[in-house]
Amino acid sequence: MGFLASRLDRVRPSQTVAITTLARDLQAAGRDIIGLGQGEPDFDTPEHIKAAAIKALQDGDTGYPPPNGSPALRQAICDKIKRDNGLNYGLDQIQIGVGGKQILFNALMATINPGDEVIVLAPYWVSYPDMTAMCEGVPVVVTGREQNGFKVTGPELEAAITPKTKWVILNSPSNPTGAAYTRAEMKGLTDVLKKHPDIWVMSDDIYEYILFDDFKFVSPAEIEPSLKDRMLIVNGVSKAYCMTGWRLGWGAGPKPLMAAMNKVMSQSTTSTSSIAMAGALAAYTGPHDFIAEHNAVFQQRRDLVVSMLNQAQGLTCRRPEGAFYVYPSCAGVIGRKAPDGKTIDNDEAFAAYLLETEGVAVVFGDAFGLSPYFRISYATATELLEDACTRIQRACAALS
Ligand code: PLP
Repeated sequence: MGFLASRLDRVRPSQTVAITTLARDLQAAGRDIIGLGQGEPDFDTPEHIKAAAIKALQDGDTGYPPPNGSPALRQAICDKIKRDNGLNYGLDQIQIGVGGKQILFNALMATINPGDEVIVLAPYWVSYPDMTAMCEGVPVVVTGREQNGFKVTGPELEAAITPKTKWVILNSPSNPTGAAYTRAEMKGLTDVLKKHPDIWVMSDDIYEYILFDDFKFVSPAEIEPSLKDRMLIVNGVSKAYCMTGWRLGWGAGPKPLMAAMNKVMSQSTTSTSSIAMAGALAAYTGPHDFIAEHNAVFQQRRDLVVSMLNQAQGLTCRRPEGAFYVYPSCAGVIGRKAPDGKTIDNDEAFAAYLLETEGVAVVFGDAFGLSPYFRISYATATELLEDACTRIQRACAALS
């Protein structure tokens, strides 16, 4: 339609949002559906965070906040980065946004000229390539092979760099694979980035706190301090603090980039909500013991899901280091026939088969740039996960 902007022609709607919506619609229509498509914790926001937001409302903290966020929250974020990552940031190097998603979008909006290339590592979070395309940039995909834990090596990254490369987006632990980079693996990438001083690094650390088996998170700038002057940290409260609906994320980076992002913010949403900021301040300055408790539950669920999926005919599933996703291969079911005679041609057909026959909603791998796989979010009650995995085993056994 001529009325719509051509910049949207290359943008696909988010498949994860689409599948979650479909699962909800089917459920509302009375079908017995287990939704494993949604990337959000099933735990509620901790009480002390809710209480801080309620108090902000009662105290009349209801006016427009500054576009880059309340000074108190920005200070708490500076303290957090210093404590966790050993990096020093000032108040004017922090930007609070409407979720980490808006920070990513504003950074690309503020920096991408038509034709600029953004390297994204597949399997990737669905939004990286499409946000790049929306900003008229060109996503360049580098695939992390399953044999390498879905992680990209230095030489693989280097082969994708061109004079047009503007950003490389890193995401550890990763959505959709849960894979996290060890210090040595991250150094493989930072050694390459060190040699290319014009390339900027976006480090999407949103799952930083959700790690298992004592795995240690590492920021690229901890390994290679020179990267800090051309790095944007993206993080937020959605995942670790169970605050997805509050819509609060943040970025930390060099002042000129933050000023440019602040300009985008001031001409779009102005800021995020003052109430969400009060909650996030309580999150960063309050007790953190619930995170370890949640991680213990996530780890048990990960082990359950990995073990049950590895018992399903035709599926194999790697044990990830963090986040709350697994990314099993369904190579062994491709080409098989469903009881109704239809062939399972690809991961999209397999996901549709699981939904139709067993009411299990998963997201097919093609949406994340690597097939034939699918993503399961195990941020769901353990009994439901057990039921879902039993249904998946049954669906696989019914293929011939
Ligand atoms: N980055 C990754 C890898 C994600 O999975 C998500 C959410 O799903 C985000 C960023 C953005 O999260 P939010 O906008 O809720 O902060």
